Amino acid sequence: MKVRIFDNYTVGQNHYGKAVFAARNYKKGDAIVMFSGPIVDRKNVPKNLFGQNDRYVQISPTKFMGPSNTTDDLINHSCDPNAGLKFTDFGVMLVAIKTIKAGDEITWDYSTTLYRNKWTMQCLCNSKKCRKTIKEFKFLPEPLRTRYLKLGILPPYAIKLVYN
Ligand SMILES: [Zn+2]
Repeated sequence: MKVRIFDNYTVGQNHYGKAVFAARNYKKGDAIVMFSGPIVDRKNVPKNLFGQNDRYVQISPTKFMGPSNTTDDLINHSCDPNAGLKFTDFGVMLVAIKTIKAGDEITWDYSTTLYRNKWTMQCLCNSKKCRKTIKEFKFLPEPLRTRYLKLGILPPYAIKLVYN
């Protein structure tokens, strides 16, 4: 019997801690991983929502997705990401927004989901486009908001803000 094992990503270390790396090449648009976790009300989210062990991803103005205790919790932010979250009818899926080569760290821009959210974090992503502080979506420069919109990696509540 022939068994094919798909290793899509692997967990390792980057310059500031745990990180997720591509274990194969991805093309722009490829699905990487489905995000999962318990759905939690805004009022029940801990203050440091992207702490090492308590990652909460905002999925609506009032709801967050809590930690799944799987790889999706460990995917880091970058101000120049190679992936983004697609909000679909069947869930939140991380997709490649550019070519990702095996061995590259997989990242997404946490600001894409932050809405009416005072949480901020100092950014250490090391990219040339680093904004130094990760903040709400509304603080992103307009061209970047539009770029993310065109890439299809914004939640519905952020899309509304682009057109405001
Ligand atoms: Zn940064």
